[in-house]
Amino acid sequence: TLVLGIESSCDETAAALVTGKRVIVAQAIASQEAEHAPYGGVVPEIAARAHAERLAPLIEKVLQEADVQLADCDAIAATAGPGLIGGVIVGLVTAKALAMATGKPLLAINHLEGHALSPRLADASLEFPYALLLVSGGHCQILRVEGVGKYQRLATTIDDALGEAFDKTAKILGLGYPGGPAVEKLALQGDPAAVPLPRPLKGSKEPHFSFAGLKSAVWRAHQSDEHADADLAASFQQAALDCIIDRTRRALGRMEPVTALVMAGGVAANQTIRGGLEQLASEFDLPFTAPPLALCTDNAAMIAWAGIERLAAGFDADPLDLKARPRWPLDPDAAPARGAGV
Ligand code: ATP
Ligand code: MG
Ligand code: FE
Repeated sequence: TLVLGIESSCDETAAALVTGKRVIVAQAIASQEAEHAPYGGVVPEIAARAHAERLAPLIEKVLQEADVQLADCDAIAATAGPGLIGGVIVGLVTAKALAMATGKPLLAINHLEGHALSPRLADASLEFPYALLLVSGGHCQILRVEGVGKYQRLATTIDDALGEAFDKTAKILGLGYPGGPAVEKLALQGDPAAVPLPRPLKGSKEPHFSFAGLKSAVWRAHQSDEHADADLAASFQQAALDCIIDRTRRALGRMEPVTALVMAGGVAANQTIRGGLEQLASEFDLPFTAPPLALCTDNAAMIAWAGIERLAAGFDADPLDLKARPRWPLDPDAAPARGAGV
């Protein structure tokens, strides 16, 4: 199998060709960091325009690099949501046009399913069902990944996502956008115990997350001018990690058996958070795995791979009149996080 993947749901325009044998034959990513940096966050209109300008040349580039024709692909997979709708539409419409022109099946991929299955692209030995901590710019969830298209959500955030908390901390510390990697780097030089910060929802019964209060506490600590930026970055990261570990421990305690503890999404690129989760996995006698850093943040290889998994699992191609979905939960039956209170 050979699948072309297209990703355009946030600020990365990406295309990739991936095989059923887990080979990323070619991939290209154009980041829009420079365009959005002056605004301190992603501006949807700018993102949509940048995707529209860059996507077609990127697809050309990966096809050339791999020396294949569209006709050699078995399907065309594109993110159809959730995400910034303008960008999602650009990618989906492009995929529809290519599918129509070539007669190849269209696979409309849930971006979160891309993240959720990305560990299986990197690790052929990873079997269903696994426990997944999905931590990205817009999501913070604990899922039991039972199979392709089968996700049980045990926890979600009642306010901010973890990546969002990293980005806001970076903004407070004047580290620019995107903030996660910059906070991680600065934290290496700081003392994680220097600044007393809250651990929202730690110890609460339901395994949900909350990061808004942590972000406000970082802001107040920064206003007080009493702490070095590196100490603040390290203390924030430690508080976030403590929350993640406590919440994931709670979720694992009530989860049906799993083969592994797995982490995916942009924040999974953080080495300190990876290390903490790896330790937690050993507490439960579970192997731990997370994809290589380039597969954690947004990319098209994970979208192509999700397409391959869907084909292998026998899912049908999607209709060419399918609509982009700004919201698209992996587990539509999950109870809302309301009432997660302590
Ligand atoms: P979603 O997948 O929820 O739609 P997204 O696609 O914008 O959101 P990703 O690309 O998966 O998110 O992840 C981006 C997020 O990951 C950003 O918030 C970024 O700050 C964070 N991030 C990236 N690298 C690191 C790191 N090393 N440490 C902490 N956070 C990081
Ligand atoms: Mg991004
Ligand atoms: Fe993402």
